[in-house]
Amino acid sequence: MTSKPIGVAVLGLGNVGSEVVRILTENAEDFEARIGAPLEIRGIAVRRVDGDRGVPTELLTDDPAELVGRDDVDIVVEVLGGIDIPRKLVLSALEKGKSVITANKALLAEYTGELADAAEKSRADLYFEAAVAGAIPVVRPLMQSLAGDRVNKVAGIVNGTTNFILSAMDETGADYAETLAEAGRLGYAEADPTADVEGYDAASKAAILASIAFHTRVTAGDVYREGISKITSDDLETAKSLDCTIKLLAICERIVTPKGKERISARVYPALVPLNHPLASVNGAFNAVVVEAEAAGRLMFYGQGAGGAPTASAVLGDLVMAARNKFYGGRGPLESKYAKLKVAPMGDILTRYYVSMQVADKPGVLATVAAEFSKRDVSISTVRQQGSGDGARLVVVTHLAADSALSETVASLEQLDVVIHVASVLRLEGTTV
Ligand code: NAP
Repeated sequence: MTSKPIGVAVLGLGNVGSEVVRILTENAEDFEARIGAPLEIRGIAVRRVDGDRGVPTELLTDDPAELVGRDDVDIVVEVLGGIDIPRKLVLSALEKGKSVITANKALLAEYTGELADAAEKSRADLYFEAAVAGAIPVVRPLMQSLAGDRVNKVAGIVNGTTNFILSAMDETGADYAETLAEAGRLGYAEADPTADVEGYDAASKAAILASIAFHTRVTAGDVYREGISKITSDDLETAKSLDCTIKLLAICERIVTPKGKERISARVYPALVPLNHPLASVNGAFNAVVVEAEAAGRLMFYGQGAGGAPTASAVLGDLVMAARNKFYGGRGPLESKYAKLKVAPMGDILTRYYVSMQVADKPGVLATVAAEFSKRDVSISTVRQQGSGDGARLVVVTHLAADSALSETVASLEQLDVVIHVASVLRLEGTTV
């Protein structure tokens, strides 16, 4: 005898939603066998109901709120995008006891707390594997597989657009604007690329990862953020000469302050990464996340971080979990927020800097520049001079120091007569020196 179907509402039929519907429809028998009951799509919400959307027209609606509220909908898949509308829809579904699967990192990075509270109250599930790094399973491993371990660091490349741009600049020597335009032509960058290139998307994902890894609520506003729009082809050239490349990293880390207080850091910025670091060889639109846990050691997750089908894979994995819970009466993992750790300001984080500056052709330049570093107890690892005359460039790489001391040093360098122009400042990650 066939079990009672589980009703699914799909909100959105764009890149991700259309793949979710296609895979669900094509593999309906497999889904039924894996869950124990068939999944039935009760409706699909879109803005534009007209035209051939490749799905039965009677399933389409432009009223997502009505669809979410229907009695025969047990699980809601939210793949709309945006924040305000999905927030209302997801909350309304959870309050009615319907489980929700969402791929919406922007929503979660602001409102996970509110949504998780609603899910807990109504004993519904809230799953969001697809919100971080597309197809790559990283949310579930952190939340469940590593639930018995202590995670100290999660660092990764979690934005495919910026990784595509930086990899292409590294490979071709082309400048940022030209490479961004090419990324747009190839469909790797959106018409308005701000969320990607200025690091907002990666910051949302960092907030989600830090919340799970450190059992603490972290929102996008807690994440220090810098984008890649100031990276030049010269930076990538210099990176190569230092046996490094440049990657936009999302870093979530447990730290101990000089006073012995435990804090967390969540930050996103482009950084020099040594070529022998596992993240250096993650190229193109691929994503990777490295997790360091006390007992497990270092784990690395790699794969496609975006795209309709890869993201749908993560959504559907969650859908199977939520449907099994509906069928057997179980429940997914609840939000774990007991640690309530404070987020340290960027200035307190120990980092290494690479500073590239154009200097005057005068005697004593090196000594004057070095004095600014030593005044703030910043020790220099290497200094290189490139070229000569007033076009000479000095490249300084420091040892680890408080980020505040490093940024103050850079500000003071800009005031020196011997420094014509500080061309570039980047942090160096993946080393501990
Ligand atoms: P998309 O291609 O822009 O599709 C959005 C869909 O939602 C469209 O079908 C649109 O309808 C519908 N929609 C939007 N607002 C609506 C509203 N107010 N009422 C009814 N329907 C509405 O977006 P996507 O790329 O699939 O992304 C969806 C979500 O997945 C986003 O949260 C995104 O961050 C996340 N995500 C995407 C990827 C990816 O690779 N694309 C990866 C990871 C996570 P119309 O078709 O009629 O316009």
